[in-house]
Amino acid sequence: MSANADRDDRDLEADPASSTSGPVGVPVDAVCVGCGRTRVTRTSLEAMEIDPRVDLSDLDAADCTSFKHVCRSCWAITWRNPIAILTGLLESERGE
Ligand SMILES: [Zn+2]
Repeated sequence: MSANADRDDRDLEADPASSTSGPVGVPVDAVCVGCGRTRVTRTSLEAMEIDPRVDLSDLDAADCTSFKHVCRSCWAITWRNPIAILTGLLESERGE
C-alpha cells in the first residue's frame, strides 16, 4: 500500500520537470539541406545549441546551429538550417 503512495508522489514530481525541458519545441523556419525546401519545423532549443532559458524574443536564427530533422520531401533525416524563429507563432499558441 505505502509503495503505491510513493509511486504517485514520484509521478507528480516528474511532470513539471519534463515540461520545462520543452516537450513541444520551438517553431522555426528551416531550410532542408537535402532538397532546399523551407518548412516550419519544431525543434528543441538544445538541438540548436541554445540555452533553454534564453528569452525567445531575443533569440536570433543566426545564433542557432543546424539540427537534424526528418524531411517529408526527402524522406530522410537531414540537416536543417534555421532561418527564422517563429516567436509570433509560439506566443499565439500560448494565448492569453
Ligand atoms: Zn528535404
